[in-house]
Amino acid sequence: MTDLFGTFGIRGVTNEKVNPELAMKLGQALATHLDNEGKVAVGYDPRTSSEMIESAITSGLLSGGCDVLRLGMVPTPVLSFSTKNYSCDAGIMITASHNPPQYNGMKFWDEEGAGFIRDKEDELVEIYSGDKSEQVGWNELGKTEEVDAVKKYKNSLLEKVSEFDEELKVVVDCASGAGCVTTPYILRELGCHVVTLNSQVDGHFPGRLPEPTSEHLGDLKNAVKSMEADLGIAHDGDADRTIMVDENGEIVSGDRVFALAGINYLKDIDNPRIVTTVATSSVMDDVAEQLDGEIERTKVGEPELVEEYKKNGADLAGEENGGVIFTDWAMARDGMMTAVQIIDYMTRTGKTLSELSDTLPDYKQRKRKAECPNELKQDVLADLTKKFEDENPITKDGLRIEVEDGWYILRPSGTEPVFRCFSEAKTDEKSEELVRKGMDALRDSIEKVKNS
Ligand code: MG
Repeated sequence: MTDLFGTFGIRGVTNEKVNPELAMKLGQALATHLDNEGKVAVGYDPRTSSEMIESAITSGLLSGGCDVLRLGMVPTPVLSFSTKNYSCDAGIMITASHNPPQYNGMKFWDEEGAGFIRDKEDELVEIYSGDKSEQVGWNELGKTEEVDAVKKYKNSLLEKVSEFDEELKVVVDCASGAGCVTTPYILRELGCHVVTLNSQVDGHFPGRLPEPTSEHLGDLKNAVKSMEADLGIAHDGDADRTIMVDENGEIVSGDRVFALAGINYLKDIDNPRIVTTVATSSVMDDVAEQLDGEIERTKVGEPELVEEYKKNGADLAGEENGGVIFTDWAMARDGMMTAVQIIDYMTRTGKTLSELSDTLPDYKQRKRKAECPNELKQDVLADLTKKFEDENPITKDGLRIEVEDGWYILRPSGTEPVFRCFSEAKTDEKSEELVRKGMDALRDSIEKVKNS
């Protein structure tokens, strides 16, 4: 992995790491990567810096000979959809997803609307850092074109799904992010009574921060309860993820959203193949079993998921953060489709969201971390690998150790100087026991490596 790219795309503080010069050069690098021809879709979320970055990256693409399809302010799923459906050769989404407002970033997409896999990111970085970008002559410069991508996306999604069987009352909280232009309208067209919260586009994110964590969703929980709504929907800043609130005002976590949306979406598919990461809940193993399907686990990060389902196929992919990919609809996480699938599941079965969530096994999770300098991570991992070799851990990303009634994982963070330990089991006691076991081993290894 390069320093420029994180677990998915480039992120940083505006006018520090993410500035117009970087954007312009990356535009030129992508144009060179595309052999200085073709068309690139460019969209952005409503951050205060997004138009600045869009202008710079567009300038770089045009100078490198690529045409630019300007989508304007759109959710990330619309950028992915448009890259494929307007026959573009690549796409760029300007967004920092769930990060606070001072951040921005860029995510790159291939012609199928899938996120760049690591090899493609590496090629781009090689052109960018090696100053290998090529610019074209005055008579070969690219041209721009503007389209109403949101309209095309909405119509296409509405064609793909049928109207709901009953009118549910839904509170939609878009964090003032990009989902404001899609989700409330789509759900209303499909037959919901929609009430909106934080659904005016605003890059200051005045109502709540864009990360849809429980502590940011107090207003949504209260609104669902006080309005006696059937459910609440929360997106992150670019609306590729969905977290839900049930009719009692309780959060339905990302892995349960993934599971419920998946069960509904895969109901007519024989032996579905599901791709997820080593850090996702066992609830997905239960879903795969229930549907007579199979599950494959990859390293953490969307490029790793993409690589796996492009190589070996998948009917569904996703992560524990509420980002779900419905592969025969689009090659990217889609917060709108996720919401639609769960509401469809509710109205088809006549069950409330809490009742549906109760049909899934209840796992107790623990998430801890220990500080570990980046330069020691590999040695710590090597020491842990030796320690746990008799337990046959899954070693795709750190160590995932399966025990009879649970599992725990030890993995170095890709973004911070910490080593993480997650556990999951059917009881709180067992989950606590596993996380302690993991943390004891981890602290011991970190000490050992520090003193060696
Ligand atoms: Mg996102």
